[in-house]
Amino acid sequence: MRTQGILEKYRDLIKLPKHAVPLSLCEGDTPLIPVPALADRLGGGFELYVKYEGLNPSGSFKDRGMVAAVSEAVGAGAKTIICASTGNTAASAAAYAARAGIRAIVLIPGGKVARGKLAGAAMYGAQIIQIDGSFDEALKLVREITDKMPIALVNSLNPYRLEGQKSGAFELCDALGSAPDLVCIPVGNAGNITAYHMGFTQYHELKKTGIPSFIGVQAAGAAPLVLGHVVEHPETVATAIRIGNPARGDQALNVIKETNGKMLSVSDDDILAAQKLLAGQGIWVEPASAAGLAGLIAEVNAGRDVRGKRVVLICTGNGLKDPDIVQLPEPIKVRPDFEEVRKILVA
Ligand SMILES: *Cc1c(COP(=O)(O)O)cnc(C)c1O
Repeated sequence: MRTQGILEKYRDLIKLPKHAVPLSLCEGDTPLIPVPALADRLGGGFELYVKYEGLNPSGSFKDRGMVAAVSEAVGAGAKTIICASTGNTAASAAAYAARAGIRAIVLIPGGKVARGKLAGAAMYGAQIIQIDGSFDEALKLVREITDKMPIALVNSLNPYRLEGQKSGAFELCDALGSAPDLVCIPVGNAGNITAYHMGFTQYHELKKTGIPSFIGVQAAGAAPLVLGHVVEHPETVATAIRIGNPARGDQALNVIKETNGKMLSVSDDDILAAQKLLAGQGIWVEPASAAGLAGLIAEVNAGRDVRGKRVVLICTGNGLKDPDIVQLPEPIKVRPDFEEVRKILVA
């Protein structure tokens, strides 16, 4: 049973200022699920795992960074926090603000934000403001607001977000005994890939656990780091990575270069197919979270040799976050009668 959060568990490794007031919703310590059947589909001969981040308290990995950022902000005297969000950051910020008894304001982009995420933000009590613009414009506004008003910014520009998010890398090393060989991870604002790399580097310096290669995966309609330029109107079903101007893009590209990795993009169809493959293993993730698997499939098809390797898919958010993406079949309706149901079952 999980009885402590990441700030307690990794208190010597996550660097927060003295004034921080450590919060916890017992985030982190998420399952690392072996998926040998998926490895076999990709040719076999290697170990494949899903790091199921959807089991964090608010349903995504964002809780790892948010617990650190809000702990610092509260200690510094903040009474209000604000973030721009494609949804999960909003839900997470709202949850930890509620925990700390302070106010949360979230700015969401125009267009689609997954329903489960907004429901979370609303339920935890955040004030939700939708702007008539993109995520990138929302982030710009939030920066201006926090420059001019006594409100704390908790987007992943906030360095404490990355401090907390490093804990995912620590957990992988603890669970596997050392770092995996390859990590496949969706990339939006590029905070998570940056944080994982920081975490592996820090653990390696302490315990010689090694540093993996990274495959960073963007959606084809929102792939600034693959195209090499800002995308003005990013579009993808994977709303959590619908970002055209990643705040930590340069850092992510450095991680790819340093670890001999690759930044690539996959189509929405490939993302949805990967989501179905994971669901076929009993692991329902939101579309963005399936991008890592879609990227691995693309790489293996392009000839990357993963035999003998340990590969981890970072599955960032829970499938329940985005129920509208599921095409619900019209249920077959029958009277509560054995004969009628039997006829359907044997048809
Ligand atoms: C935020 C988020 C991402 C992208 O993470 P970045 O740090 O912005 O690259 C991917 N998947 C999900 C589910 C997210 O919530």
